Amino acid sequence: MLTKTNQSHTAFDEELNPFVIAQRQCDNAARYLPNLEPGLFEFLKRPDTLITVEFPIVTSSGEVENFIGYRAVHNRARGPGKGGIRYHPEVTPDEVRALASWMTWKCAVVSVPFGGAKGAVVCDPKKLSHTDIQHLTRRFISQLGDNIGPHTDIPAPDVGTNAETMAIIYDTYDNMHRGENNLGVVTGKPVHIGGSLGREEATARGGFFVTARALSRGMLPGLTDLDGLSLAIQGFGNVGRHAARLFSQAGARIVAVSDSQGGVHAPGGIDLEAASRHKQETGSVSGLTDTNDITNAELLHVPCDILIPAALENQLRSDNAGNVKARLIVELANGPTTPEADTILSDKGIPILPDILANAGGVTVSYFEWVQNNKNEQWAEADVNAKLELTMNQATDGVLDKQAEVNSSLETLEEARREVHRPGDELVPIDVRTAAFVVAVQKVAEVTLARGIWP
Ligand code: NAD
Repeated sequence: MLTKTNQSHTAFDEELNPFVIAQRQCDNAARYLPNLEPGLFEFLKRPDTLITVEFPIVTSSGEVENFIGYRAVHNRARGPGKGGIRYHPEVTPDEVRALASWMTWKCAVVSVPFGGAKGAVVCDPKKLSHTDIQHLTRRFISQLGDNIGPHTDIPAPDVGTNAETMAIIYDTYDNMHRGENNLGVVTGKPVHIGGSLGREEATARGGFFVTARALSRGMLPGLTDLDGLSLAIQGFGNVGRHAARLFSQAGARIVAVSDSQGGVHAPGGIDLEAASRHKQETGSVSGLTDTNDITNAELLHVPCDILIPAALENQLRSDNAGNVKARLIVELANGPTTPEADTILSDKGIPILPDILANAGGVTVSYFEWVQNNKNEQWAEADVNAKLELTMNQATDGVLDKQAEVNSSLETLEEARREVHRPGDELVPIDVRTAAFVVAVQKVAEVTLARGIWP
């Protein structure tokens, strides 16, 4: 895998800095918003803040080890900052900025009243003990101090963190703010500590609803539902594992899965329970019986109907997108496809359900959790899932309708651009990603203007 820190370009000289990519995606959408004030747009593209903290912990082996942590808030026009906390050895400040900005656009796409934020600690959780992770989390949260809070900036799980980490975040913050209802400071908590039923699988379930809706609207001619479709899933963590289960319950066949150690392929379908057991016992899905081992690179080229990247950024690039054999890509990871790969896949006629729509189920149920926390309620899982389905269907319709609306008014938009003297290439029909960005940028711009730019 190409990493973000050591290598910012592929052999094809492709830009791999996630923040530059996130900005390019915004720039592309802005071309279809001729009335968007350029100064306002420049502001909307940039993060409000990036906090860097450095801190030590005493590890289980008795040594003092130092860590760097980040928290970026991209935009709070529509509500408090919201975004996960990632523990990963290669995480960079620009990656955190990019992830924070994708959160702003994602919350706008699903009309959840939050802004965008993201946090990270540069660490390898696999090399830390359980106690080390607890100490690191407590120290990180205490260093962030009042930069997070139930009405200012609300963390959640991401790569390398989970419900248990969220419980520690809550406990640390609560000890620092006694006598208040602090449950809403973090979402993705264990259910018995104020977590929402359905949150753990919400990202995958949301992606499932988006896919089903898009298929029912004719995104893939001749395929209107998931029954009998074949899927390859990259990443077998929280999101990938639940996605495999939910799509397979709907009649799809999971033909390939992978994790950071490698992947497995079985054209007849993988036994998911055996895969989960094998991963628990050995740390990886590799070597699972009745399957063939494949590399992560090979997984992306497996013949299948739907490819689901559910691991990290920059997996589909200019050097490998041409070999994708799937008919549809559903981005459950954040930022898995570079702009060059977008073009290649679009030329091949492979549509993409983009991250800021497809994986927004997680933040949607995080919002439901926050509402439950503020009201001291616990909703039934069926109610959570029903509300999630409604939200994801409305968001999918909103994005696909916007795509159709833009593509049927390119001449009018071109004329409007000329009137306001916007230079640039001729407008071409937009893909689903650009439509989602158009929806999101428009919403955040409108709210910013309605609130007024202070003073
Ligand atoms: P996780 O840590 O639970 O799982 C990540 C998985 O990816 C692991 O199985 C890991 O082994 C695998 N992986 C890492 N590098 C890989 C590689 N090069 N190739 C294949 N697999 C690799 O994390 P998660 O919460 O499942 O998050 C996965 C993705 O989904 C991330 O992009 C995250 O930002 C995104 N996401 C997560 C949520 C959420 O609610 N957890 C919400 C929205 C988006």
